[in-house]
Amino acid sequence: MTGVEALLRWNKPDTGMVPPDRFLPLAERTGLIVPIGNWVINEACRQMAEWHSQGKRDWSIAVNLSTVQLAHSELVEVVRTALQRNGLPAHSLTLEITETTAMRDAEAALIVLDQLAALGVGISIDDFGTGYSSLLYLKRLPANELKIDRGFVTELSQGNEDEAIVSAIVALGKTLGLKIVAEGVETAEQREMLTELGCDVLQGYLLGKPMSAAKIAEHFGTQTAQA
Ligand code: MN
Repeated sequence: MTGVEALLRWNKPDTGMVPPDRFLPLAERTGLIVPIGNWVINEACRQMAEWHSQGKRDWSIAVNLSTVQLAHSELVEVVRTALQRNGLPAHSLTLEITETTAMRDAEAALIVLDQLAALGVGISIDDFGTGYSSLLYLKRLPANELKIDRGFVTELSQGNEDEAIVSAIVALGKTLGLKIVAEGVETAEQREMLTELGCDVLQGYLLGKPMSAAKIAEHFGTQTAQA
């Protein structure tokens, strides 16, 4: 267990769970993603600091950033404040951006990402392999982690094209000094192959399904040991 990725869920009192693919695009279009995203960053830092205080000092938490958030001038200050307010070491927070987000306004994104990296937080390139990456920009991104999209993991098997692609991504990532994370791991076979191919960290239903913070505490025993 190395950490968790924070995922937003909306439990609407009258109708129940609203799927994120329904409310997140709406939040992006209306700009509400900025205050919501700021809340998520602070809440993620608060929760991780709590788990640290319960002994899980080596865990880190990942938060997804949208294009709108990355373009917003206050982002660096929001992250700095959230870390300080909650007393969380910067290296315990990772910010995930998709390659598409990073490349949209690449020069502007680089400036913000450099400032975030200077705070000491981790920068992860999410859904790698699904967007259009400029390898020149990839080289300049202050990232320390690359997440292979689940699309290459789902049908991964010995000798198929996905194996060739994953192997190439791992080689590229390692050359750039990045930690390689594979998403969407659901079977023991996938786990074995991805480990053999050189992935450093695995994520997916096989390792842990999405669950509430309370469930994680229960599942992984974050309660302070009784004297
Ligand atoms: Mn992600």
